[in-house]
Amino acid sequence: MLGPPGAGKGTQAALLAEKFGVAHVSTGDILRAAVAAETDVGLRAKSYMDAGNLIPDDVMLEVIRERLSDPDAKEGFVLDGFPRTVVQAQALLDLLADAGTPIERVVLIDVPDEAIIERIESRLSCPRCGRVYSMKTRKPRHDQLCDVDETPLVRRSDESEDVVRKRLGIYRDQTMPVIGFYADCGLLRRVDGIGPVTEVTERIAAEIA
Ligand code: AMP
Repeated sequence: MLGPPGAGKGTQAALLAEKFGVAHVSTGDILRAAVAAETDVGLRAKSYMDAGNLIPDDVMLEVIRERLSDPDAKEGFVLDGFPRTVVQAQALLDLLADAGTPIERVVLIDVPDEAIIERIESRLSCPRCGRVYSMKTRKPRHDQLCDVDETPLVRRSDESEDVVRKRLGIYRDQTMPVIGFYADCGLLRRVDGIGPVTEVTERIAAEIA
């Protein structure tokens, strides 16, 4: 799943993973859990994440290699937040070719910049399960508590407006070339990310079915 920060990759990846009965692999969620647990990777990643920068490719490749070897990824997976650089995209292609499970589709969720800033400003998420809410369009059932586990919702530490603008710049410089990379491989599908969550899910499902 490709797209700028705030495009809805996490929400859509979780819904699609459930729909197709495969694992949802979010590198952002893995890293936030590592930061909370203060593991070696977490301690290295925190300052990059808080500043809105990308974690070095070698660290990310180790993280993804380990995660994709978990038993729940054997039947397939939706990748969310990875790859974010052409180096990662090439390494993923090689890794999955070696494993005999090549990438089937790459979906780009298209959302214009103005909509992104607005979305992120109204976004809260669950620090325990990672579910994302919008105080405008996808409110929790109970005042700022997660619907799944009732944990108080929080604003991510990298979602102040200036850090979001920086993440958008990094997306443009480092992740947009990944779109061309997959277009050249013939794997890319573009989906309009504006509209109700369920409609966007249907658009994506139609592209990957
Ligand atoms: P996300 O939740 O996908 O927006 O990721 C949050 C942050 O984690 C990013 O701003 C990066 O600092 C880091 N991160 C997540 N995935 C990657 C990746 N594939 N490569 C480098 N950094 C990443």
